[in-house]
Amino acid sequence: MRIARFSADDGVAFGVVDGEPGEELVTRIAGHPFGEIQLTGEPRPLADVRLVAPVLPSKVVAVGRNYADHAAELGNEVPAEPLIFLKPSTSIIGPHETIAYPEELSKRVDYEGELAVVIGRLCRQVPEERAMEVIYGYTIANDVTARDLQKSDPQWTRGKGFDTFCPMGPWITTDLDVSDLAISTTLGGEVKQSARTSQFIFGIPHLIAYISQVMTLLPGDVILTGTPAGVGPMSVGDQVSVTIEGIGTLTNRVVARD
Ligand code: MG
Repeated sequence: MRIARFSADDGVAFGVVDGEPGEELVTRIAGHPFGEIQLTGEPRPLADVRLVAPVLPSKVVAVGRNYADHAAELGNEVPAEPLIFLKPSTSIIGPHETIAYPEELSKRVDYEGELAVVIGRLCRQVPEERAMEVIYGYTIANDVTARDLQKSDPQWTRGKGFDTFCPMGPWITTDLDVSDLAISTTLGGEVKQSARTSQFIFGIPHLIAYISQVMTLLPGDVILTGTPAGVGPMSVGDQVSVTIEGIGTLTNRVVARD
């Protein structure tokens, strides 16, 4: 099942997406999707609605250096245990919304295509063997990073936390085996990152167990699982797309911040 969130006449609504690429239909559901799904209204073309980020989490927990070749390309060792940080909820934007480049503060803003895990229920101290039970589904994220600020600051909050630095979408896909999916990022149509999720250093059950030992996870919370090798800078005017097999493509354009 695919769950999208979109702008409706009376606010923002969730919906179930069906159909083949380019011909998808969306049917609104009552309330939120973290429980029994109740369809309301008629299916309408997905092209007729404006998608927003598929979920508004209380927090985005991101994992750094979870692909060995990405750790190596930035001159870092593979961590002995997961390296986690937070991105603020205010950094989240949806598909086709614009990434605002803060040119007065950063001279290097990178894309980082990542598989995102959406948590389905309140949980804490989840044992690794039960971690899959708390997953609602998966979406795509771009962990946009002001690389120069990430390097200059002892904490990554500034480099990772600007408004618009966490594009997510286009929807949440449930019931997906993510153990070996192709993930790629293109910039202006040129392939920059191409890897498989089987290359994770720490698998998703381990990440959920590790993170939930520290903080309670709430329905809708998001875990970014790290980016593969091939990170690089974006410029104002660029279009960046992250594609994950079985989910879809997340596309955003970069504009100068007002
Ligand atoms: Mg990242």
